[in-house]
Amino acid sequence: MSAGAAGAGMLSVARTLDRCGVLGPGVRAVVWVQGCPLRCRGCVAAETLPFEGGTPRAVGELADWLAGLAEDGTVEGVTLSGGEPFGQPEALAALLDAVRARMPEFTAMAYSGFRHEALLRGTPGQRALLDRLDLLVDGPYVAARHAPLRWRGSANQRLIALTGRYADLLAGPDTSAGLEVSLGPDGALSWAGVPPVPDFRARLDARLAARGITLRPADEGPGRRGP
Ligand code: SF4
Repeated sequence: MSAGAAGAGMLSVARTLDRCGVLGPGVRAVVWVQGCPLRCRGCVAAETLPFEGGTPRAVGELADWLAGLAEDGTVEGVTLSGGEPFGQPEALAALLDAVRARMPEFTAMAYSGFRHEALLRGTPGQRALLDRLDLLVDGPYVAARHAPLRWRGSANQRLIALTGRYADLLAGPDTSAGLEVSLGPDGALSWAGVPPVPDFRARLDARLAARGITLRPADEGPGRRGP
């Protein structure tokens, strides 16, 4: 598994979102890290795959942002996506520690293209991040097994409760949470979620291009909604 491009105490971030209801339980902030060593056909986050090109963000700055959102009741936790969160595990583990120093009940969910069993045999940093998660969606996106499942897009991907915080949710309906589309204060369109239909990104891009509409290509800072 590849290491992230950012140095110690820094994360290479593709974008952030301060409020999301379709990428995990409740209302959550989302951090999409930059860089993934896998290349799943049909990946909806192609712009996050290169390890180059992300925005370097200090762990302390992101921790302040997340703790502030939790303190004012906006979110109950964060979802880590990408890109591959386990490509930058040390910084993400430090981020969760820093937020929980202020908000001990803050919850954490992560996506990974790697299977849980592989992460358990991973680097110390990867195991440290795993130890700090409440929920994990594991495994690569497999277009041939696309399915409209809760918070994940293909039937090989598992939703794994790593603590008791959300264990009861696993008994609920396993159906798509859908997508969220938002309009930023500057007029920029963005979307988040796991598409319930295959080839969603290609279809969306083609339809928007036909109308001369573009999605915001990159995050512009905490509290701002990215694409
Ligand atoms: S693991 Fe996730 S981010 Fe990486 S290529 Fe696959 S779907 Fe895209």
